[in-house]
Formats: sequence, structure tokens, C-alpha cells
Amino acid sequence: GAERTKNVLILMSDTGGGHRASAEAIKDAFWLEYGDQYRLWSLAFHSTSPKWIHSVYLAAIAAFYAKEVEAGLMEYKPDIIISVHPLMQHIPLWVLKWQKLHKKVVFATVITDLNTCHRTWFHPSVNRLYCPSEEVAKRALLDGLQESQIRVFGLPIRPSFVQAVFSKDDLRIELEMDLQLPAVLLMGGGEGMGPVKETAKALSEALFDTELERPIGQLIIICGRNETLASTLQSLEWKIPIRGFEKQMQKWMGACDCIITKAGPGTIAEALIRGLPIILNDYIPGQEKGNVPYVVENGAGVFTRNAKETARIVAEWFGEKEEELHRMSGNALKLAQPNAVFDIVRDVHELAWQRGALASAPYVLTPSLSSLIC
Ligand code: UDP
Repeated sequence: GAERTKNVLILMSDTGGGHRASAEAIKDAFWLEYGDQYRLWSLAFHSTSPKWIHSVYLAAIAAFYAKEVEAGLMEYKPDIIISVHPLMQHIPLWVLKWQKLHKKVVFATVITDLNTCHRTWFHPSVNRLYCPSEEVAKRALLDGLQESQIRVFGLPIRPSFVQAVFSKDDLRIELEMDLQLPAVLLMGGGEGMGPVKETAKALSEALFDTELERPIGQLIIICGRNETLASTLQSLEWKIPIRGFEKQMQKWMGACDCIITKAGPGTIAEALIRGLPIILNDYIPGQEKGNVPYVVENGAGVFTRNAKETARIVAEWFGEKEEELHRMSGNALKLAQPNAVFDIVRDVHELAWQRGALASAPYVLTPSLSSLIC
């Protein structure tokens, strides 16, 4: 019979950590690979992270989310659910089971954490767990997942990073950058976090040769959604391009020679694809900590929280330590997994076929689970 458009629901949270970027990457790749065979939806949950959680409170949160998840299922009627957040598995899987939909709906989790994966990522009931690295896959196995559930493709990155790669010169002309001077990109994830201002100040000094009275490098600062940071930087008296949220990160990365950022998995994976050596200057405790050794131990970058040291390293890379910059760039490219997002959506597609989820997924929900708990 005529094929019906299949619904994919992506579950994410509204906090940082690369979830949003990964969700967008998956959406884009589905569209590029399968066009209107799939209809993509996403549901973002507000994560509350109180320091102290009472068990009654926890039960209340669970009931609240169960209700939201059920409402999401009713609204989007997904054939496939993809979670890009560790805490967006338990309750949706529980609701699916309660609604007897777990045999019809494919549930896949995409880990958006490059290295030290917190155990909450490893839910035993998923149909697929996409791991960014062998390290993470090993941990998932130790935690009880079956080999058949696990695939290792890499972190999903927006397809725009892989398609249409322009030369550095062309990009610099388009972005109105200096064509000769080496360039460093300074950012702090989507929210413009980390010691951006201190680093910018230190760089403005370190990248100027006072004897020859000329710059030895150029700096680009991308503040993301941090408007306060952007306006603070703009009020300083200097001539550095300061940008707000940029839609075409692939171009800015393609135009630069190295990058300074907090240890966000999205930014790191993108920088690796562009072969940019990385100076990590911060990380979100817990979720981003493990990304630091991933970069440093693989020789693709360094870690320092000290703004002056960061500036010194960049100045050296643009001077006597050019060799190190090149070596790290090569290591970055070796780690890069530009096709991960396509591998993931193709595998999800195949999985859905195998499970017969593409035939029909009737959504007749039984009385609400959450109304029973409340
Ligand atoms: N990003 C962007 N425009 C900006 C700043 C950041 O598109 O102006 C993207 C960046 O390329 C990356 C994501 O936002 O894909 C940030 O993800 P990451 O995991 O680095 O950190 P998060 O912001 O999620 O904490």
C-alpha cells in the first residue's frame, strides 16, 4: 500500500551540553537522506536540577514528566523516538511499555557525551544505543547492554559541516577577515560560557608584537546567545570582530587556524572535523569533564583555565611552535567522524524496517498512567 510518512520524535532538554545541536543534526540528516518519508518533531524538557531531591519530590517530577511524555505521544504519534538526553529515557520507555507501544515504536538513544559517560545514559531497554566512541561502548557493555543494541558511529554533527567545504581563503574573503594573519576563534558553546572576556583581553596583548608594532594573529569572538557578553566586549575599545549567535559555524571554523572553547561536545566534534587544534578553557562539571582527556590524550589540544597561558599558547602556535599546531591539527582530523550523523539515521531507518514499525503504529492510549500515580 501507499507509504505513510513516518513520525520521528526527538527528546532533548533545554540545557547546554550539545543536545540541541545534536537534535538539529539528526533532523537535517533525516531530511537529506529520506526527504518527506519522515516527519521530525522535537520535544524539549526543562531540566530542573535541585541540589537536594526529596523522594516525594522525585515522584512528583516523574508523574509530571510521564504526563508530558504521554501528551507528546498523543500529539506526535511517533514511529521512532530518539533521545539525546540521559534523563529522557526512563520515563518515555516506561510510558511506552505501559501503553503497550514498546514493540511498535523504535526507541534509540544517541549519547552526546564524548568520553566519560555517566551511567544514566545506559538504559537497558533501548533498541539502540549510539555511542560516540569505543570507550563509551565498552562502558555500556560493562553496564549490561548487549552488543546487538550498541553501534559506534561518533557524535552527530550538522551535515553542513560535511557538505560543501570551502577553501580558507574564500571563507576569509566572505567573512571579511585578514587573508594573511593566522586566526584564533574564541567561543563558549551556544550560551557563550567560560572565561571569554579575560581570554580576549589576554589575547589582544599576546597577539601584538610590540617591537615590530604589528599583530601576529587575528581573533574572532563568537558569544552565542550570551548577549551580555557580546555587549560587554563591544564596549571595550578594540577592533576585534565580535559576533552574537552564528548560524554558520562551519564557515567560521573553516576560516580559522585554532579554537578556544569550553569542553562542549558539539563544538569539539565540529572543530575536529575542521582540523582545528583546541584549547579547552572550561567545562561544565560532570557532563563535560570527560571531554577534556578525550581531546588532550589524543593530542588534538590542550587544557588550561588560565587566560594568560591560553594567550601565550596561541601566540606560540602562531610563531615558533607552528609545528605543534600542525601536528595537533592532524591529530584532530584523525579523531573526526564527519559521517556519524548519516550512519545514525540510516541505522535508525533500517531498524525501523526490521521492527515493522513502518507498517502502522496505532495510537490508542489507555487511561493515563500519570493520572494513576497522581
Ligand atoms: N553554536 C552555534 N552558533 C553560535 C555558538 C555555538 O551554532 O553562535 C553551536 C556550536 O557550533 C555547537 C553548539 O552550538 O554545535 C554548542 O554545543 P556544545 O556541545 O559545544 O555546547 P553547549 O552550548 O551545548 O553547552
